Amino acid sequence: MIDRRNTRQIHVGSIPVGGGAEVTVQSMTTTKTADVDGTLAQVYALTGAGADIVRITCNDVAAAQGLAEIVPRSPVPIVADIHFQYKLALAALEAGVHALRLNPGNIRNEAHIKEVARAAGERGVPIRIGVNGGSLDKDLLAKYGSAVPEALVESAQTEIRYLEDVGFHDIKISVKHSHVPTMVESYRLLSERVDYPLHLGVTEAGPPPGGLIKSVAGIATLLLEGIGDTIRFSLTADPVEEAKAGRQLLEYLGLRDRAGLDLIACPSCGRAEVDVIEVAGEAQRRLEEANLPIQVAVMGCVVNGPGEAREADIGIAAGRGKGHLFIKGHVVRVVPEAEMVDALLDEAQKLLDEGVEARLAAADGIAEQLAAEAAEELLQIQGDANHAQDRRARVAEIAKSE
Ligand code: SF4
Repeated sequence: MIDRRNTRQIHVGSIPVGGGAEVTVQSMTTTKTADVDGTLAQVYALTGAGADIVRITCNDVAAAQGLAEIVPRSPVPIVADIHFQYKLALAALEAGVHALRLNPGNIRNEAHIKEVARAAGERGVPIRIGVNGGSLDKDLLAKYGSAVPEALVESAQTEIRYLEDVGFHDIKISVKHSHVPTMVESYRLLSERVDYPLHLGVTEAGPPPGGLIKSVAGIATLLLEGIGDTIRFSLTADPVEEAKAGRQLLEYLGLRDRAGLDLIACPSCGRAEVDVIEVAGEAQRRLEEANLPIQVAVMGCVVNGPGEAREADIGIAAGRGKGHLFIKGHVVRVVPEAEMVDALLDEAQKLLDEGVEARLAAADGIAEQLAAEAAEELLQIQGDANHAQDRRARVAEIAKSE
């Protein structure tokens, strides 16, 4: 279990962040904010993919005006992303946004920052101090020579002081960097110094799969140490992918309940009786379409499949032209191979409707026996690659010996 660091709690609209609240997923729209309908369509798509909070750029007057129409129609809280122009932060507040993100690297005037903090404070709107390795304050860059963790954290702490000076404490902070070890070290350092909630991300991570790997490496490392209250994957991809990935990561780490499919599949090997990649791909597509929140295993052979995937809610293993459908490791039905994905979908739905006990009770009485026979046949044909039978015999001999 992850022992999460204790932080203060803030609220982004109705969503609590920090202070023991569930870790939340954020993403950012890529549309022009002035395109109200296009941006709202993307906000809805991101929400459907798992985003709890969505950030939208507020880069000009038309964008601020767009926010005034988007915010009241959004299904989730909206954060306005502000760079360079503090007046756009004031305009975004007037548009009704639920939070601001300020970049201390390019809004550097103390009086301007304090003016924004006072206006946000009057409306009960939190501010994310969004430090970014690529746009670090020029003075800090000169002082440290590069965007090292100490420089990122100093930037955040200077901005915190400005906000606290005017009695503003509704703060969350990010210290993002595109280099994973630097990002991890920066957040560790920051978490030792402040108790404000932290927004995690590897900035400019790039397109998948590299961008996903970098993001997971940085974000998961910190989450497992109990650091982090809200996350964003910054992928060069459809933002729906980053919302999905963020949500999946939290589910895989046990930080959020399963809301969608968790498909596990064996990597396949010489024993595989079907094209596991193809079957797993079809199963994933159809189970996602059906939107079933369940853990499903697709295993290439019945010799090892049901046993290796016994933790899965439900699974399918191929063998001798048949699909062996199993629930919690118990084979409940045997169907022709061509029908195995259909049967998997049918049984997954029944399992969700009726529960494990009921579906185990409804199992075909000879399914386990048919699976055992198919596994034995395969062992005869393919050989016992692991020499399991010999070993069993030797183990028994040793156990019985005087
Ligand atoms: S389940 Fe069967 S096919 Fe898949 S990796 Fe294991 S032994 Fe190979």
